[in-house]
Amino acid sequence: MKLPIYMDNHATTPVDPRVLEAMLPYLREDFGNAASRSHVFGWRAEEATEMAREQVAGLIGASAKEIVFTSGATESDNLAIKGTVESYASKGDHVISAVTEHPAVLDSCRALERKGVRVSYLPVSRDGLVDAGDVRKAITEKTVLITIMMANNEVGTINPVTEIGQIAHEKGVFFHCDAAQALGKVPIDVEAMHIDMLSISAHKIYGPKGVGALYVRRKNPRVRLTPIIDGGGHERGMRSGTLNVPGIVGLGKACAVSLQELPDERKGLLGLRERLRQRLWADLEDLHLNGSLEHRLPGNLNLSFANVQGDSLLGALKDVAVSSGAACTSASVEPSHVLRAMGVQTDLARSSIRFGLGRFNTEEEVDHVADLVIKQVKQLRALSPSCEMAKSSGR
Ligand SMILES: *Cc1c(COP(=O)(O)O)cnc(C)c1O
Repeated sequence: MKLPIYMDNHATTPVDPRVLEAMLPYLREDFGNAASRSHVFGWRAEEATEMAREQVAGLIGASAKEIVFTSGATESDNLAIKGTVESYASKGDHVISAVTEHPAVLDSCRALERKGVRVSYLPVSRDGLVDAGDVRKAITEKTVLITIMMANNEVGTINPVTEIGQIAHEKGVFFHCDAAQALGKVPIDVEAMHIDMLSISAHKIYGPKGVGALYVRRKNPRVRLTPIIDGGGHERGMRSGTLNVPGIVGLGKACAVSLQELPDERKGLLGLRERLRQRLWADLEDLHLNGSLEHRLPGNLNLSFANVQGDSLLGALKDVAVSSGAACTSASVEPSHVLRAMGVQTDLARSSIRFGLGRFNTEEEVDHVADLVIKQVKQLRALSPSCEMAKSSGR
């Protein structure tokens, strides 16, 4: 077993060797511009991006023409939200989202609010889920867009997107879904789930950073987006800029690998996650699971350790890469907006740790991490640390 151990796969994932292999020719001899129509360099690049488009579409039950390549899920979220609201301004000026969304969604909504758009931020239940009934109640004559994520990046909870999609289509409202965390971990079918736009990020599915995609529905109903980046009219005018050919090839390959491995990988991750959870529960008291266990990504475990500072624990877990649910600002340790929205008490939110298991984690690593967490939590509890200690631990 090699140290350090990476268990922060919600933040990013390592590039799969198969993905890297697929990308290399496009960084070397096949360096053409996919928009060059007059020679073989351009044709090869274009052929590669079109194959990637098929691979991305294949993972979500879409057609290749519905895939728009972007720089990542942040851009996809911005394009979907701002692009729809601007394009359909004559239809209405109301958006429905949720309090636990990723900042890429929340800040896009806030930018629209500054321009006079009204946004309803739905609450979540104690276990972190949006209620489809709340979505229905929030819809008005003026609602143009519902933007609700599939799986949460902190607590791994999976929202009832099929129900939300059904309601959206019944009411004639567009439905955008940020699936950066869900893709490759749960089966996604944009038809069955009634999704009109879906945000994808390559680096969350063992592809490279700085590339992603937005699925944009072409029929029943067709979505017309106003671009946020203008230029040469690439990507059917929705996203100008020379295509990141090696990145797009990597995204495509990452999707193809995920499609092939999803069923086994899902079981494997769930096994590792449950092994970790059961080991910790067997040896530690006052543990709290944040978020629904049932409606949850297989590789996510977000726990609060009562009477332990998340940041002290992070410091004590040397050689293990995980995240805490709190961010030390200059003035205080702020609990995450997601845990706060779930009604998790401030001290428990501050004591939370997110374990994000991924494709390359092993049982041996899980056992090592479990042993280390148990030992360190017991030690820290004996010392009974305070927030001041968390800050002075140098993190
Ligand atoms: C990582 C992530 C994003 C941002 O994706 P980038 O490709 O890094 O811009 C957006 N939404 C969710 C849910 C994420 O997990």
